Amino acid sequence: MNAATREKPFSLAKSRRTIQWLVVIGTIVLGLRHIMPGEASRGGSFDSFCAFGGIETLLPYLFSGHTLKSTNLLNFSVLLGTLGVSLVAGRAFCGWLCPLGAMQDFITDWTRNISGEARHIRGKESKSLLPLRLPASIDRPLRYAKYLVLALVLFASLYAAFPPLREFCPVRAFFGLKMTTLLWLTLVVFLAGSTLVERFWCKYFCPLGATLAIFNKISPVRLVADSHRCNNCGRCDIECSMGIEDVPGKLSDPECIRCLECLETCTRDNALALRVLKT
Ligand code: SF4
Ligand code: SF4
Ligand code: SF4
Repeated sequence: MNAATREKPFSLAKSRRTIQWLVVIGTIVLGLRHIMPGEASRGGSFDSFCAFGGIETLLPYLFSGHTLKSTNLLNFSVLLGTLGVSLVAGRAFCGWLCPLGAMQDFITDWTRNISGEARHIRGKESKSLLPLRLPASIDRPLRYAKYLVLALVLFASLYAAFPPLREFCPVRAFFGLKMTTLLWLTLVVFLAGSTLVERFWCKYFCPLGATLAIFNKISPVRLVADSHRCNNCGRCDIECSMGIEDVPGKLSDPECIRCLECLETCTRDNALALRVLKT
């Protein structure tokens, strides 16, 4: 082994996948629980466990003292927990704990396998047809769409009876188990988008991701790069699921979901490291 390279003590990627599977299984159980008879007696609707539900119902609660239908004070607790994680570790919720983020990662694994990559080789450009990387001229402006979705949802929440995103929510489409025509449509679009583009929903449309993005700039737990040790090999750019270019120079980028795939793939000793920054 080269003196500048290192053996990984354990696989961050495998640990992340394990946690993501546990989150997905937990969310499926939550969905099942809420299609059983007597849902109302079991401590709230499926929607009330959603962090973004807390954002959707925040303004109505502040202005009228009432939460929107299908949400309740539990949404604020879940939201506070999510914001707490983000305050410490930026968008780590997106990289590790979000069931929708996990589903997109699973879809990317499967589409890579199906479309021509028998075995993923870390740090090497994928030979598979899918997922695509959109050209920068489309990708960059589209990244701002999630902020527009957030603004529209907040505005609509002032006049809505139910959370505005409810009928188009991919989490409900995947895990809610009470389908409507709009949710079927949402599911089809989500599956098609995630098959074509890695982390399609996170990159372009997720209003919760837009909310959490600011925390990458202020959280004390961060990835840092050492320019003396990094040899600009580009392995981390290849592995970045959010398609960030020049990862070592953009470790506080709002798009970073703290998945640590770059840290996992970097073979240069301490070129990238996870640190707690002093404030
Ligand atoms: S951007 Fe949205 S969907 Fe993606 S992981 Fe974050 S919260 Fe989940
Ligand atoms: S941080 Fe590591 S993987 Fe990324 S360019 Fe530098 S040496 Fe390569
Ligand atoms: S920069 Fe690293 S931690 Fe951030 S999204 Fe890309 S691979 Fe994940």
